[in-house]
Amino acid sequence: MKSDIRVCSAWRETHDRPVYTLSDTCPECGGAAENSAPAPFDPEDPYGEYRRALKRRHR
Ligand SMILES: [Zn+2]
Repeated sequence: MKSDIRVCSAWRETHDRPVYTLSDTCPECGGAAENSAPAPFDPEDPYGEYRRALKRRHR
C-alpha cells in the first residue's frame, strides 16, 4: 500500500522529530519531503541496540 504521507528528508538535521506532511515540502523548514512509505529508517530504530553493540565491539 502506498502512503501519501511524506516526511521531511532532513528532519534529523533540522528537527528533533520526523515532520510529516502531505505536500512536497516540509511545512517547517521548507526542505524537500520524501515519501515515508518505504521508510529509509525506522524512527524507533529496532536495530539501534545491535548497531551500538557492534560499535562497542570494534572499538
Ligand atoms: Zn523539515
